[in-house]
Amino acid sequence: ITDKIAALPPDANYFSLEFFPPKTQQGFSNLHARLSRMAQALRPLFVNVTWGAGGSTSAKSLALAELTQRSLQLTTCLHLTCTNMSRKLVDEALEQAKVLGVRNILALRGDPPRSEEYRDPTNPLAEEDDSNKDFTWAVDLVRYIKKEYGDYFCVGVAGYPEGHSDQSHPEYQTVDHDLPYLIEKTAAGADFIMTQLFYDVEAYQQYERRLREHESGVFKTIPIIPGLMPVQSYQILRRTTKLSHASLPTDVLKRLETVKGDDEAVKRVGVDILTEAVEKMKTLPNPGPRGFHFYTLNLEKVITQILERSSLIPPATPMVVANSGSIVADQAV
Ligand code: FAD
Repeated sequence: ITDKIAALPPDANYFSLEFFPPKTQQGFSNLHARLSRMAQALRPLFVNVTWGAGGSTSAKSLALAELTQRSLQLTTCLHLTCTNMSRKLVDEALEQAKVLGVRNILALRGDPPRSEEYRDPTNPLAEEDDSNKDFTWAVDLVRYIKKEYGDYFCVGVAGYPEGHSDQSHPEYQTVDHDLPYLIEKTAAGADFIMTQLFYDVEAYQQYERRLREHESGVFKTIPIIPGLMPVQSYQILRRTTKLSHASLPTDVLKRLETVKGDDEAVKRVGVDILTEAVEKMKTLPNPGPRGFHFYTLNLEKVITQILERSSLIPPATPMVVANSGSIVADQAV
């Protein structure tokens, strides 16, 4: 990923798209078709594949990474969590990623399991020893990958522009609390930082400025990729912002609340809001190409509109318009 970013002109913009592995075979087939269209029409610099904490989606995440990296030839960043993962499970995941040709890992702690729902008994890896003696924090995983694999993997870490909703602690943790650990992860060799979703562009701007100007100097040139979640529905927005501790600025909330009874209008206003956020962030000073990461929720239509409107891609080809269908057809898979 960092090689691809470095190869872009310094004033270029790029974006990445995040997908989660569907639970069913039908969902996987639907996503396969959708990803093929999106790969061709949107041409993201890379795509991300999420990982269930404790390895609960390991087989499915690896299958999706195989599809994106091998079949669709999309540069893939595989997320990997380390909490509740033995070293053996981490080794297996990294080895399999290597076999698939995946060169990028987003090294995360993950959230400790709250219940047995995290364990998938049909997953062969889940039967392995799950005592987590080797990894406590994401930095342990960054260090481990760097020690075992040198520069083979380009390693990203998570940043939290509005603080951290750490589910292993009852309280919300501020940017101040989190910052020393982000410094630690970066000093341990992280190659890029990808952020939690946010809608408060001012808060993000302050966060990025704070990192860039930090006296440690570790954030001077590292790519910092802001995370954005397109608005798919008013309910999803309220739920995800609550879970992630992302604030909703008054003007954003007002615009969406005015139309909250009309799903199509919510999406339309959401496209406006996200497009404006991208346009605003494009103007922020940056030491290199400016990237944007989109949490797609495996959906296609709204993200395509945002990317077109903010000129991150050329206008969609007729094939994409024909295949993407109506918003009604654009349901999560
Ligand atoms: P850490 O960096 O380890 O931080 C966790 C908490 O511990 C923070 O509050 C931090 O301040 C604190 N901390 C860190 N180090 C120390 C230390 N040495 N001593 C004391 N406190 C410390 N989750 C998934 O399960 N699957 C995914 O695919 C996934 N993808 C994500 C993608 C992005 C871009 C982001 C932002 C998050 C993602 N998450 C995912 C969620 C993530 O796993 C959780 O937010 C998790 O609670 C923290 O992970 P982390 O890597 O930030 O952990």
